[in-house]
Amino acid sequence: MSSSPRLVSRVVPLRKPIRTPMLHLVKMQIETALFFESVEQIYTRVFRTIRPRTALPEIVVRFRKYANANSRIRLEQGRLRVDITDLLEDAPAPIQEALASILLCKLFRKEPDPALVARYRHYLNRADMRRTIHLVKRERGWKAYLNPRGKFYDLVQIFEDLNFLYFHGLMARPELGWSLRASRRTLGHYDPSHNVIVLTSLLDSEAAPKVLVSYIMFHEMLHLRYPTEHRGARRCIHTREFKQAERAFEGYEKANSELKQFLERTA
Ligand SMILES: [Zn+2]
Repeated sequence: MSSSPRLVSRVVPLRKPIRTPMLHLVKMQIETALFFESVEQIYTRVFRTIRPRTALPEIVVRFRKYANANSRIRLEQGRLRVDITDLLEDAPAPIQEALASILLCKLFRKEPDPALVARYRHYLNRADMRRTIHLVKRERGWKAYLNPRGKFYDLVQIFEDLNFLYFHGLMARPELGWSLRASRRTLGHYDPSHNVIVLTSLLDSEAAPKVLVSYIMFHEMLHLRYPTEHRGARRCIHTREFKQAERAFEGYEKANSELKQFLERTA
């Protein structure tokens, strides 16, 4: 006896009802859902499509209260442990299936189906999901950074100088700080959930010329000025306007070559 999953079509109302009675048929949206399938069963089914010859491990799926929308998977003593953000606890089966495929492909170093990746991203990128993720990050996440008055540079001073020069002094100052760890990969970032700009403490050093520190700060300030654009499944962080504005930085070329040299020096 094979226990293939049952595919059932379900008719659900559209979120925005269409008032024209002529079009009442359009009110319905066919959503294919895999009913009677638990999340564990979805993972079992996807596992069999990815590793048909491997013995099926015991699968344990938990929804966890993470401070972000991340999910993780690992194979531990013959047990497949999946921890999914509780933000997806009520996500429909096709989304669970897409995530299952993405996580299992990652675990077994396979290329996931681009259509499933797009389906998952699209869901996370929906305005309501983005709002929920933002709130959850703010409530559950915490942010640790050092005082903006560093050993060599004062980020408040640098921010205000740039604010005066490029933003008519009109930009409301977010929280500012130096990172706890001297990261080389992330020189700076703006976190909209906590409204804070953090620069890597690697730059709070004699070895970092001021034009470079200002340039990185300027870049992060542009993230406040030009928020990330969301288009369908895509996220556009450095838009055309953003890049154009960035080139207005006085000493743009110099800052970029200093950046290169600095990274080589500190490598
Ligand atoms: Zn950026």
